[in-house]
Amino acid sequence: MTTPPSPSRYDEDGYLPQACTLTARHLTDFPYREELPADLRPQLEELVRATGDGSDVITRVAGWKLGGWPTWHLTYPAVFACGDCGTDLTLLFTVASDAETGVVVGRSGDLRIFTCPADHRHPFQVDLH
Ligand SMILES: [Zn+2]
Repeated sequence: MTTPPSPSRYDEDGYLPQACTLTARHLTDFPYREELPADLRPQLEELVRATGDGSDVITRVAGWKLGGWPTWHLTYPAVFACGDCGTDLTLLFTVASDAETGVVVGRSGDLRIFTCPADHRHPFQVDLH
């Protein structure tokens, strides 16, 4: 029995998974600023000024984020509805493009997976933001 050679483009394009490790970090997450109650926005704006450059440093973090709030750094916040029951979908996880991890999604965006909190058997929604 002969093992066929692997296609060369896999090596060139980086499509083969590589061994890596996960480093879990606990973080405090907040809704995107326009989704916060108005009386809490000044405190969040101060936190953004103190910890970053004024962009979305709160919901947009390096690496993979499990759960939490979605970032809306490209569009105004929106709600995705479940195609089966109409319930508002919730964020399951985000894969973010960033220089820290070297991950690039699309054109340096974020891959987000939303799920139905009413029934996990309902279809999930993939969003490239
Ligand atoms: Zn549903």
